[in-house]
Amino acid sequence: MPEATPRKIPIRTCVGCQQERPRQELLRVVRTPDGQVQIDRTGKAAGRGAYLCPKRECFEQAVKKRRLARTLRTMVPEEVVEQVEQWLDG
Ligand SMILES: [Zn+2]
Repeated sequence: MPEATPRKIPIRTCVGCQQERPRQELLRVVRTPDGQVQIDRTGKAAGRGAYLCPKRECFEQAVKKRRLARTLRTMVPEEVVEQVEQWLDG
């Protein structure tokens, strides 16, 4: 397989720092069609997704400024916040 040209890399905006980055570098959090919020480790889960740099500052900003909730159009449960924090620490 030839390497993808830069132009073909999907770019997404981090909901924390609002910087654009290649999608593959970002953590995806998804609201599934049945309304659950979860980390999408595959990047392919169905539903409304929000992208974050894998950095604690970005996640904290996204939660504190409610950008994550706004992007997902739902409340982000505390247990999901904890899961993401654990993921970031791990
Ligand atoms: Zn960021």
